[in-house]
Amino acid sequence: MADGPHRPLRERLLYFVLVPAICVAVMLLGAAALRTTLQIERASKQSVLDATSSLAEERVDRLDKMIIAQDNAVAANVEVRELSSIAARWLATAVRETPTVRAVLVLDADSADREVRAFVSRHPGPEDDVFRRLLVGRMLSKMELSEPIEQLRHLHQAFDEQSFLVSYWQRVHGGRKYLVVVWHEVAKLVHEIMPQLYRDLDRNSRMNVVDEEGRILFGPPLQAGAPAVSLQFPTTLYNWRLQVALASAEGLEQRTVRQRYVQLAVVGMAMLIAVVGVVIIVRASIQERRLAALQSDFVANVSHELKTPLSSVRMFAELLLTRRVPNDDKRKEYLQIIMGESERLSSLIDNVLDFAKVERGKDAYEFAEDDLAEVAARAVDSLRYRAERLGIELVTNLQPATIVFDARAVELAIINLIDNAFKYARGTPSVNVSVARTAAGGARVRVADEGPGIPREEQERIFDRFVRGRNASEAHVRGSGIGLALVKHIADTHGGSITIESPTASGRGSAFELELLDRPPKKRTRS
Ligand code: ADP
Repeated sequence: MADGPHRPLRERLLYFVLVPAICVAVMLLGAAALRTTLQIERASKQSVLDATSSLAEERVDRLDKMIIAQDNAVAANVEVRELSSIAARWLATAVRETPTVRAVLVLDADSADREVRAFVSRHPGPEDDVFRRLLVGRMLSKMELSEPIEQLRHLHQAFDEQSFLVSYWQRVHGGRKYLVVVWHEVAKLVHEIMPQLYRDLDRNSRMNVVDEEGRILFGPPLQAGAPAVSLQFPTTLYNWRLQVALASAEGLEQRTVRQRYVQLAVVGMAMLIAVVGVVIIVRASIQERRLAALQSDFVANVSHELKTPLSSVRMFAELLLTRRVPNDDKRKEYLQIIMGESERLSSLIDNVLDFAKVERGKDAYEFAEDDLAEVAARAVDSLRYRAERLGIELVTNLQPATIVFDARAVELAIINLIDNAFKYARGTPSVNVSVARTAAGGARVRVADEGPGIPREEQERIFDRFVRGRNASEAHVRGSGIGLALVKHIADTHGGSITIESPTASGRGSAFELELLDRPPKKRTRS
């Protein structure tokens, strides 16, 4: 009782502070976890990007270096002083050291028509003349011939849809400037060198080389829209680009998407569990409060029910003792009242004791074959005297119905139902008790009265323990709210049911039907 006033406050705290606090905490946790995942995602994407970039750099460098190494090898064999020796010196090592060089030319850069002073080709033929004309006619104007003249330079350009790569540098001899031009065969670079240089690429990374128009020259197409690193060849084939798809980018993407879903699901689940947990706690606390209130009502009701018959027993016993009883008839009447009240007392105590047993789970039912009609007759007989005093006729229609059941428990249930009819249908002429077999092979007891009936909204609740109906409080009917709970327990234990019909076919009153199945006897203990 002492914590009564604190209780609503505690519950309010639970509703308005704890529940939102738990939800917010779970949400914050979820958001933090999600942020961390996104950061990790970003970092791993970045690291894949970095790794791919350095891979691409290394690849473009490799080809550049390879071409420049050939240029250097040519330079070592070209001596403008001795132009005639170029053929002998360079061709001797050309296949091994300069595999992509088709021809080496030396031009007199000072002469007006850029006279070709030497032309050494690995495969002399008509293409050489075409190249020579192209060089003098169109390429030279595109070349960078400023200082420092010794510097190795490259021209990478398409002429008439054909890609050309030439390396060039200038030399001075005898006061004249000479231009050394190295003609690289682009087709060889693509078809022989690239497959050699790039064959060790790991299987996951897809790589290709594209020209200035984006046409693939070497390698497979990259997946459209997939992230890729694209890098120009820095010095030699500078109009072309090397593209490398992010290694395992697809897998990474899928993995991160999956991880995000898992994360969201975990956060959602945590929130759901938190909310469900809180709801369960709140409901349990409400239920516990209701039960506590019902229990205290029960104690008050039972005490009252015990007190009233006890006072009449005492009063009539005292009257008998003082011998102030006018005649034998009166004495007999007093004694009968004492008998009736003691019966009520003992049946109430039986009820409470049985209920307590059921509640503690110690009630073991004894199933045996018996005639339900006989058991109902016993219950009716035990209440006949009270019925007479109340002026209620007990009308019976008991058809034999032998089934397997616990006779003592079912008798108690029937007594409770008839007792309720007496209590709530006071002043009505009769109560009907009938027993009949059911189509399912079991049997049914029906106790019908012509009382006030039971409102529809109460018809389910009145089977809960300690619950009493509105008519009980309005008409000040004594009771404890455990009678129907006990009847329901007995019905359940028999695998049967208890149902209410209110109003009955006659338009008023209520009828309780206890239906039992003809079950094989099973010792059942309520746990
Ligand atoms: P109690 O009779 O001690 O209150 P019960 O569990 O036997 O407890 O009954 C629960 C409630 O059901 C009663 O309070 C009453 O409102 C209602 N009730 C039971 N039997 C009848 C009946 N025959 N007619 C009308 N109301 C009834």
